[in-house]
Amino acid sequence: MRRTTRLIAGLVALLGLLVCAPLGPALAQRLDPVAFEAGFQDWLQREIWPEARRNGVSRRTFDEAFAGVTLDLTLPELVLPGAGDEPAIDQPEFRTPAPYFNESNLATLARLGRDRLGLWAETLAAIEQRYGVPGPIVLAIWGRETAYGRVALPHDAIRALATAAFTGRRAAEFRIELIAALQILDRGDITRAQMVSSWAGALGQPQLQPTGYLEYAVDFDGDGRRDIWNSVPDTLATIANFFSRSGWRAADPWGTEVVLPRGDYCVLEGPTQGQTAAAWQAMGFAPVSGGQGIGAANAERFLLAPGGALGPAFLVSQNFYVIKEYNFSDLYALFVGHLADRIAGNDRTFVTGWQPIDRIDHGQIRRMQLSLEARGYDVGGADGLVGFRTRISIGRFQISAGLPVTCFPNAATIAAIG
Ligand code: CA
Repeated sequence: MRRTTRLIAGLVALLGLLVCAPLGPALAQRLDPVAFEAGFQDWLQREIWPEARRNGVSRRTFDEAFAGVTLDLTLPELVLPGAGDEPAIDQPEFRTPAPYFNESNLATLARLGRDRLGLWAETLAAIEQRYGVPGPIVLAIWGRETAYGRVALPHDAIRALATAAFTGRRAAEFRIELIAALQILDRGDITRAQMVSSWAGALGQPQLQPTGYLEYAVDFDGDGRRDIWNSVPDTLATIANFFSRSGWRAADPWGTEVVLPRGDYCVLEGPTQGQTAAAWQAMGFAPVSGGQGIGAANAERFLLAPGGALGPAFLVSQNFYVIKEYNFSDLYALFVGHLADRIAGNDRTFVTGWQPIDRIDHGQIRRMQLSLEARGYDVGGADGLVGFRTRISIGRFQISAGLPVTCFPNAATIAAIG
């Protein structure tokens, strides 16, 4: 989708660990902060006000929104004068998905989620009736985004969005979000002071970008305001509305963990290689011990193996890809589906563990992707990340090169790819 969810991706660290890049000493010498701030104030009046007015924002809302607002140069992903054209890119170590599924974190979120499943039972039942999205899925998004509203949102949304629109790496996208945020204020759904966000302007407890808010936010407690900052019913219904509008199919589970019958079957992963549940079963795929069924014989299912053959495997439904609309990451969607299962009562970790991997950094991954592309493989863009297209291409290369098939980067495969 949609700008909305792409922008949501990775915007909030689960427990509020928000990292801001400090200004380096060299930069501080070259940037004239007074002139830069003056340029920002001039830009607000000269460019943003006419655009806001064209989009129906009143002068009063505009003036209130920007009263006392200055640039926040502590935000990440800014492009600042004197800092050079290219932002510094570090090459952190590539890690397995294991830390993403930290058990103590998951167990805590599952316990808090079950509490809320009881506390908000009536509201969740009404939401499921209207939107067809089960309570545990809605709760899992809320838990993943802001730990059920417990994570403090430390930024003033207008200041963060205006700074990013003026001098952020993705200024054009943030400019659209800034105008949308002004429209939200103009409607009176939230007061100026209460409009807080992540550093990237993701709003309230469900962490929607302002354009996402305008499209999906719901007033479910009936007070006439769509308040995803303070109202739990509004927050939950907004998430459910997003899922319903994104194609969630009622009464279809997101997926289930399965036994991968052969390591080289990892190349069958991904949304373009769906087969019926019966076809997967005929190949030897079966739910792990104690797991749910795969689905009706003719139900379309897709293989998900975020660690290739070196981690747990799953057969997922179309609903898994609806979760990815909220944040386009296999790990995010798996985290949400798994947390939802645990909230619903199947409170245990994956049966298959994540195997350790070779020490590799993201720069090596990116170079490997470029080499795979040069050999005609589709890696979904050489971004240094290992999504399903990269995993499949690694697996297919390993098969062609006679290497052990893992569909996951390792030193021997990287050396063979060249
Ligand atoms: Ca409301």
